[in-house]
Amino acid sequence: MKCKKCGTVNLEAAKFCKKCGNRLITNLLCSNCGNENPPDATYCNQCGFRITRNKTPQRICQSCGYPNPPGIEYCIICNQKLRV
Ligand SMILES: [Zn+2]
Ligand SMILES: [Zn+2]
Ligand SMILES: [Zn+2]
Repeated sequence: MKCKKCGTVNLEAAKFCKKCGNRLITNLLCSNCGNENPPDATYCNQCGFRITRNKTPQRICQSCGYPNPPGIEYCIICNQKLRV
């Protein structure tokens, strides 16, 4: 297991780089059952739960319900000012 950050070769079973502390495992953890799935998985191969990899909270428009990307102030659909 080679660290992508500093290039140090760690043990295959290592979860964190011994040199820089970078997390080596990029598997997606299922938030439903805790199973580790491959990084490209969309659904958990253990329970079928949809894996959410985008942890940035979306800003739901109070007016039309559209989930706007974070960091914007006005709804891109109806131009309603979004509450923080
Ligand atoms: Zn490292
Ligand atoms: Zn699962
Ligand atoms: Zn809206």
